[in-house]
Amino acid sequence: MYRCFGELLARGAGSVLAAEGTLPAASSVLKYRSYSQAVDKSDDPNFFTMVEGFFDRGAAIVEDKLVEGLKTKESTELKRKKVKGILRIIKPCNHVLSLNFPIRRDNGEWEVIEAYRAQHSQHRTPCKGGIRYGMDVCEDEVKALASLMTYKCAVVDVPFGGAKAGVKINPKNYSDVELEKITRRFTIELAKKGFIGPGIDVPAPDMSTGEREMSWIADTFSNTLGYSDINAMACVTGKPISQGGIHGRISATGRGVFHGIENFINEGSYMSQLGLSPGFTDKTFIIQGFGNVGMHSMRYLHRNGAKCVGVAEWDGSIWNPKGIDPKELEEYKLANGSIVGFPDSTPYEGSLLEADCDILIPAAGEKQLTKANAHKIRAKIVAEGANGPTTPEADRIFLERNILVIPDMYLNAGGVTVSYFEWLKNLNHVSYGRLTFKYERDSNYHLLMSVQESLERKFGKHGGAIPVVPTSEFQARVSGASEKDIVHSGLAFTMERSAKAIMRTANKHNLGLDLRTAAYVNAIEKVFQVYNASGLIFT
Ligand code: NAD
Repeated sequence: MYRCFGELLARGAGSVLAAEGTLPAASSVLKYRSYSQAVDKSDDPNFFTMVEGFFDRGAAIVEDKLVEGLKTKESTELKRKKVKGILRIIKPCNHVLSLNFPIRRDNGEWEVIEAYRAQHSQHRTPCKGGIRYGMDVCEDEVKALASLMTYKCAVVDVPFGGAKAGVKINPKNYSDVELEKITRRFTIELAKKGFIGPGIDVPAPDMSTGEREMSWIADTFSNTLGYSDINAMACVTGKPISQGGIHGRISATGRGVFHGIENFINEGSYMSQLGLSPGFTDKTFIIQGFGNVGMHSMRYLHRNGAKCVGVAEWDGSIWNPKGIDPKELEEYKLANGSIVGFPDSTPYEGSLLEADCDILIPAAGEKQLTKANAHKIRAKIVAEGANGPTTPEADRIFLERNILVIPDMYLNAGGVTVSYFEWLKNLNHVSYGRLTFKYERDSNYHLLMSVQESLERKFGKHGGAIPVVPTSEFQARVSGASEKDIVHSGLAFTMERSAKAIMRTANKHNLGLDLRTAAYVNAIEKVFQVYNASGLIFT
């Protein structure tokens, strides 16, 4: 088992790391070492470089296997060139659209808005990824998040390439009318440049955007450039139900976070390595960011017996070792616009990330766990609800400290998984279950009647009819699965299957607790197979 970059290097892995196909392995290892040292100095890596570094770590492990797996008659040298070539193709961001467009503010002034959409990969189409509004938005951030989306989709077998958009505004500084103008204008700009469309590129909610913004986007696209496209409403997901949305999308990422943790916390072999017992009931957790992901993750964890002892927000943190109720906190935040002052808690001075708990869930921005605080983290499990919350240096420290990091690209994939279900629903133009409800209900009643008749034929009806009474569980399912049931079971299945695949890869490559590298290995293998099978790139 190797738990740190040093060990990885010592094993001589890394020949694709520099993405320079003809370099001998040793040079590439040196490049990787210098990358690692560069990170070490500042530990404030460029976000896209950070994702590339994680990709390199996975690619180094899987390269030989990919070469071996090529069943052609080419020489090993040619095969290796092909593998290196494909890995080099996968890594960069294919397209980045950088925009500046004007809007007229409510006070009559004009403002120029900066926005981006990055499409990392078209190995599968459409591209998929959220739109965030925030002052940190920049080209580097959207590129990094788009590339994460490619690997995320691959890890959970969602057949999309990765994309991401950002609009550089603080939404709190704009009225609803202004936000609508910005969103609609951004949609038009994306459409004009081929960066939105049901078969091209399909955005979704991310930080500071939600159903409302998605419905503006769907409406703008379907009434302008998409007016003749019968599938126009599939140009975006995370829409309200009335606009073609799907039940369970709002809470999907948080639900996925819960299932993702569940799959590892119930695994005795992992928990014994951490010195924890399996299961949720005796576990405490802390959440950073009480937004969409944080709040829904908290709800499901709480419902399943874990205790939330602290919540951190940008304007303050709250703490209660006896537990914080998610519903009460949600209502308090709605009424007061902040979690600060929540009655059933005390303010937490200092960094809540470093407080005592079993599970730490960063669910806000990127690069929150760094070389500066990784040594002080007391949680045994870091569950990455947010995208990119852990820097490579912090990741290395966590591995050395035997802290289990459940990586973003797997853990927060519930959102894109359910977005996929929504997109399919839109293309089908029918909600899940509608065509089968009545048939299934009638069939199940026929089944019960047929059992009853058989019993009566065999034993007679001397004491009267023999009623076959369905159990309450069967009665609840007698009409077949509702859309909500399908979404919930489809999501749980996806998270379980992907967790098992990550565990298998971690075991196979002797990666110990390094689930991030295992997840990257799985993603890289899948994306590689698509490029390799297409053959087009070699013409
Ligand atoms: P959101 O805007 O709904 O919530 C983010 C919350 O974090 C807000 O309440 C905000 O006030 C808080 N916050 C911001 N900076 C903070 C800080 N420094 N400390 C503490 N709190 C802070 O956003 P979201 O949709 O919940 O997204 C959160 C993270 O999850 C992002 O990294 C996003 O990319 C990722 N994610 C979101 C989805 C989704 O479906 N929404 C899916 C996958 C991943």
